[in-house]
Amino acid sequence: MPAELTGRELEAAGVLTGVTPADGGFAYAPSREGTDIVTIRPGYGLWIGGEEVEARSGRAITTVNPATEEPLAEVAEAGPEDVDLAVAAARRAYEQGWRDLPGKERAKVLYRVARQLQERARELAVLETLDGGKPIKESRDVDVPLAAAHFFHHAGWADKLDWAFANRTPAPLGVVGQVVPWNFPLLMAAWKLAPALAAGNTVVLKPAETTPLTALLLAEVLDEAEVPPGVVNIVTGGGATGAALVSHPGLDKVAFTGSTTVGRQIQEALAGTRTRLTLELGGKAANIVYDDAAIDQAVEGIVNGIFFNQGHVCCAGSRLLVQESVAELVVDKLKRRIATLRVGDPLDKNTDVGAINSAEQLGRITALVDAGVEEGGERWQPACTLPERGWWFPPTVFTGVSQTSRIAREEVFGPVLAVLTFRTPEEAVAKANNTPYGLSAGVWSEKGSKVLWTAERLKAGVVWANTFNKLDPTSPFGGFKESGFGREGGLHGLEPYVSLGRR
Ligand code: NDP
Repeated sequence: MPAELTGRELEAAGVLTGVTPADGGFAYAPSREGTDIVTIRPGYGLWIGGEEVEARSGRAITTVNPATEEPLAEVAEAGPEDVDLAVAAARRAYEQGWRDLPGKERAKVLYRVARQLQERARELAVLETLDGGKPIKESRDVDVPLAAAHFFHHAGWADKLDWAFANRTPAPLGVVGQVVPWNFPLLMAAWKLAPALAAGNTVVLKPAETTPLTALLLAEVLDEAEVPPGVVNIVTGGGATGAALVSHPGLDKVAFTGSTTVGRQIQEALAGTRTRLTLELGGKAANIVYDDAAIDQAVEGIVNGIFFNQGHVCCAGSRLLVQESVAELVVDKLKRRIATLRVGDPLDKNTDVGAINSAEQLGRITALVDAGVEEGGERWQPACTLPERGWWFPPTVFTGVSQTSRIAREEVFGPVLAVLTFRTPEEAVAKANNTPYGLSAGVWSEKGSKVLWTAERLKAGVVWANTFNKLDPTSPFGGFKESGFGREGGLHGLEPYVSLGRR
């Protein structure tokens, strides 16, 4: 099909409305990843002091496969007493050895964790997809390898801390409470654990209520890697468990990734205490496409920016800012590309867009999309058949969006793109920065000087040039404004886990 066809012509040709075998298209044969490699037990306890223990609370939550709505397992819900025990176990492990272990010994442990994550990569990827709904190709090619990479990277730092901060002597902080969300359950746990452990801290980690299973499998991995008992403790549960953990007086530091609303509550709870805090919160990233960009490459970047992990990504490129002179071309090409995305069974290796993580999240996405239509935005979705069971949302593009509309301002955290246009670089920068968030941004142009001019003016922690959603353990990641404070990754990500004394 010639590349210069307009959206309307493509629609007439059947590309944008979907082609079925009956219309003369190809029949599709799924390529489903097997699940035999994963053993899911009916019930799980908490991981405290190097062993699985029953929750004193006596309560449990059910974790569900979002692609089928079928229950996967019952998982203990930690109450305040359980959190107390976990913090006490972490304190003992800290004082009785981990903080004083020579860096090279901690490094060996972390290298073993990284190797063991690689050994069990397929199992972890399948479990992540079952519990969270993300496409297997993403959990297999992104989440698990990057989680291992974070442990490798920080293992490398563990014996070099004395040289990491010029003229400063780093010391661990103590016991760290970490709360992670459901969009990258294993990867976020790795982002949090690896630097904390490398620096000599011990941890109590709380995974999200809807995605606890890979964190519990990680407990097994840590055990196999001979992480000493109590160095990492995992307390499962919902928001109340998270609140009990972050406000525990026995913590020296809290690290949180999640919504800005909960981040704000945590900051209020810790105000006036001696507990240190880092927050990695929401985002509403601008993806700026100039008229001199390589358009086909930019279209791939836009698709990756917003539809990767169903748009459940804090740094997702959810606001496309496209130069007016190429807007029609870009939007046409984008629709044509989106029409080829495969939405459905996350275990199918060809699936591009998997299930929405929970019924609640689907409700939030639907409400914001409805608001977008009410506010006058033009909604476009490709023709795609969604599975009958499970929680799904089709890839969605909004045009005719104003800067003030909710769809352009609020974090949807779903596969929904708002398209705005601009005429000059100054206008692009002003519109990109017109958000309470400041986590990430993208710039597409063939001219390096224009990319740098733009990047310098964007108020975002990460700016990608001619690419998007590239994450690397050596590179700091974190936000400005309401996207939080503190960095994760690289040397910058180690700093929040140490106190720096004068040499
Ligand atoms: P939350 O911020 O509520 O969840 C993130 C983590 O914090 C989870 O482990 C959660 O537990 C825990 N938590 C919830 N309440 C508290 C509390 N008071 N104190 C300590 N920890 C707590 O996000 P949601 O899952 O509710 O999602 C809501 C919206 O947040 C999404 O639509 C999205 O816009 C945004 N979000 C942004 C993320 C990001 O990375 N920027 C990540 C996740 C969500 P549990 O899940 O068990 O309740």
